[in-house]
Amino acid sequence: MSVPVTRTDKTIAIVGAGPGGLTAAMILARRGYRVRVFEKDVQVGGRNAALRAGDFTFDTGPTFLMVPQILDEVFELAGARVQDHLELRRLDPLYRLQFGDRSEFLPSADHDETVRRIDALFPGEGAGYRRYLDHERRKIDAVFPCLRVPYDKPWHYLRLRLLKALPKLDLNKSVYDCVAQFFRHEHLRISFTFQAKYLGMSPWECPGTFSILSAFEHLFGIYHPIGGLFRISESMADVARGHGAEIHTASPVRRVLSRNGRATGLELASGERVDADAVVLGADFGYAMTQLLDAPDRGRFTDENVRQREYSCSTFMLYLGIDGGWDAAHHNIFFSDDYRSYVRDIGTGRLSRDPSFYVQNASVTDPTLAPTGSSTLYVLVPVPNNTSGMAWNADETAAFRETVLSKLESRTGLHGLCGRIREERIITPRDWESRANVYHGAVFNLAHTINQMLYFRPHNKFSELDRCYLVGGGTHPGSGLPTIYESGRIAADLILRDIH
Ligand SMILES: Cc1cc2nc3c(=O)[nH]c(=O)nc-3n(C[C@H](O)[C@H](O)[C@H](O)COP(=O)(O)OP(=O)(O)OC[C@H]3O[C@@H](n4cnc5c(N)ncnc54)[C@H](O)[C@@H]3O)c2cc1C
Repeated sequence: MSVPVTRTDKTIAIVGAGPGGLTAAMILARRGYRVRVFEKDVQVGGRNAALRAGDFTFDTGPTFLMVPQILDEVFELAGARVQDHLELRRLDPLYRLQFGDRSEFLPSADHDETVRRIDALFPGEGAGYRRYLDHERRKIDAVFPCLRVPYDKPWHYLRLRLLKALPKLDLNKSVYDCVAQFFRHEHLRISFTFQAKYLGMSPWECPGTFSILSAFEHLFGIYHPIGGLFRISESMADVARGHGAEIHTASPVRRVLSRNGRATGLELASGERVDADAVVLGADFGYAMTQLLDAPDRGRFTDENVRQREYSCSTFMLYLGIDGGWDAAHHNIFFSDDYRSYVRDIGTGRLSRDPSFYVQNASVTDPTLAPTGSSTLYVLVPVPNNTSGMAWNADETAAFRETVLSKLESRTGLHGLCGRIREERIITPRDWESRANVYHGAVFNLAHTINQMLYFRPHNKFSELDRCYLVGGGTHPGSGLPTIYESGRIAADLILRDIH
């Protein structure tokens, strides 16, 4: 991949050192721009930052790295190599799935082995898995390149590549419908559709395009960088700094400055003004619109317009540093007894008493996260976002913590877990909103509904204010690390085109 390196005196100011902001920062710095990143937290990474509790280290948010090829590409564009910064481990099994009836399925990174496991558990269904892989491979080949280009203009829908891919986008079907054609058993259908939750959506409502999520896992693998996924953001910051980028942590931005319909810089919370030739907004989309841009600069994205959009669910997080280990997979997902009702409850803003949950048991792969003889458990429970009206006050939080801990003990076999906890941290949907600046606490951003995809998702070149660019999970192409890296790359390309 050739990397055009320019020397320019142009300054690009970036709000937020999350994965989106950092991708743009390292590519732009490599291309010779003066890059200045302003991050409100004391560390880089945003939702992808480290969370430290005593001697234990956790990832705050992302724990699955998928399609690492995209990471390779953005590092290469920044003149760096992933392997010089990160040690990626491919996980096998992909994860352990435990269903409501307590039966378990552990898909392997080896397809033949997965067929054997499927046939043993669900006789005669192994062939469906092979058909699913073939179908999804073709779908990814057609669909994924379409997600990697900007959709700033309605006529971008007329691109030949997209027109050809349209029948494969499955926009008229749900992820569940797409997968159901390959598998008869409900457990298998859930195994290949629960990934819609990575977008904070229901498999029964998420557009069929996103059946590619489970296929990404099966075809390209799931990876864990030793040290934690936050090491990716830290490495990106190192690469950007290596090209001269300034990354100012503990530097909250108050608002975007503009003149005559053009972004001209940033005003920091400290009152300092930063001049820039372009501004990249890497903060959460809904937050950035409603808090960082003056009303005339955000045009149709009024408070009302932003509020009325559809958002993903939120998460209740429990980070436990425990004595001893847990003999289980790295990723473990426990489905509620009635998974469909649970998913429906989230959509209607109700907190389920029988939630599904995910436990990352990273110490089985990565000895760097906990002191010898102990381990980290990262527990994620998808819950309604803050439009539910729940306050998540101390009593509500304590009650839900009890529910989650008792589910953990009963479903994982970790009896006596509470007595083994040495460190504990909690993040509620209200914390996501108030501390991480995540609009509605909808951690997976704007929902990926048809009317919020491609041209209808916020553009990487902001449509309302010249010289302003948007990156991150709330923008095109979407939420999830690979697409967020793409948003940073697309924005960097657009800046190279516009500001030279
Ligand atoms: C619990 C959880 C689990 C997830 N799991 C996965 C996963 O396994 N795999 C995956 O691919 N994706 C996952 N995601 C989704 C997604 O990859 C992450 O949320 C990702 O970190 C989003 O990146 P971003 O750049 O869009 O936003 P952020 O990471 O939120 O970055 C925005 C940055 O802007 C900063 N900021 C905000 N306001 C200001 C301000 N006023 N001034 C200065 N700075 C500001 C923030 O502090 C933050 O650093 C997960 C998300 C969550 C929350």
